[in-house]
Amino acid sequence: MKCLVKARPEEGLWMETRPVPEIGPDDVLIKVHRTGICGTDVHIWNWDAWARRTVPVGLITGHEFAGEIVELGRRVEDLKIGQRCSGEGHLIGHHSRQSRSGKFHLDPETRGIGVNEPGCFAEYLRLPAFNVVPLPDSIPDEIGAILDPLGNAVHTALSYDLVGEDVLITGAGPIGIMAAAVAQHVGARHVVITDVNPYRLELAERVTEVVAVNVATTDLRDVMRDLGMKEGFDVGLEMSGNAAAFDQMVEAMVMGGRIAMLGIPEGRTEVDWSRIVFKALTIKGVYGREIFETWYKMIAMLEDGLDISRIITHRFPAAEFEKGFAAMKSGKSGKVVLDWSA
Ligand code: NAD
Ligand code: ZN
Repeated sequence: MKCLVKARPEEGLWMETRPVPEIGPDDVLIKVHRTGICGTDVHIWNWDAWARRTVPVGLITGHEFAGEIVELGRRVEDLKIGQRCSGEGHLIGHHSRQSRSGKFHLDPETRGIGVNEPGCFAEYLRLPAFNVVPLPDSIPDEIGAILDPLGNAVHTALSYDLVGEDVLITGAGPIGIMAAAVAQHVGARHVVITDVNPYRLELAERVTEVVAVNVATTDLRDVMRDLGMKEGFDVGLEMSGNAAAFDQMVEAMVMGGRIAMLGIPEGRTEVDWSRIVFKALTIKGVYGREIFETWYKMIAMLEDGLDISRIITHRFPAAEFEKGFAAMKSGKSGKVVLDWSA
């Protein structure tokens, strides 16, 4: 089968031919239809310090996918050949305290497909049946292929009750924009998203109806005043990984406000802790998706009219993956989807 491999310890990914994976008794084999390119894949392409420490050379990359089950392990009972599916790319253990209490997404032994284990940038993917998430007919493959990052957005956005609340989202990357759509969908009052990249802010306006603010040119306090907000945002969703954005968020929060952080700052960053204490803020780190609570909720919301389809800005056949990665690196893309059936 064709697959995209981190074949050498240097910048790039290479299309190779490998045998179709053999499956174990509890696995399924999935024929991959569409995959999403993630920021993580760009880190792996760039072979930065994180990728060098984490990703084994020779690994098949990719973790965002939708496809169809073509083979069932002998102990798999509740799935069928021909079932369209996406799936959770975090492969969890069953030994840790958290896993044994049903908090699968907090298992410290988690291994990621396309990061630690063979991934989905391939014609076929082996996945434990446990990780499979069947797709209803109403969700097309290309949306199925971005449920992983939509899940990050949903997990973060649903960290707190948003009904009637004023929500600030810092970072209008694909995940920030999808989180803004989710906040609106579940009934937040004002939703404001910030960025410093005009393309991303325009994209936010195309995908959602939230207020998009370029904080390089506009004072957030003016926006708050125009919206009639006197005391600050009730909920903050940090989705940029940028220390200045987090600082601005802390400044803009109401007393007792709640922040969920998905963005991953690079290395150690400075934080004004006394301000966080005196504002009595709650801060929650968010990792991955809740397995499988987030999946149920996001599929229900998609079936109930949540529309994030315009976040996909580029589509390429898998053979043209280099164009896909170039789009990702340009700063002028939303989600980029590769077609493996072409
Ligand atoms: P992205 O890099 O595409 O988007 C980040 C956006 O933040 C960019 O558009 C950038 O211009 C913007 N930004 C930079 N400085 C800013 C500032 N001062 N104010 C406001 N915006 C600013 O990333 P993404 O794929 O949308 O992911 C969002 C974040 O979530 C990233 O940090 C990513 O590493 C992280 N992430 C975390 C998890 C997890 O499990 N915790 C999973 C996926 C992604
Ligand atoms: Zn991803």
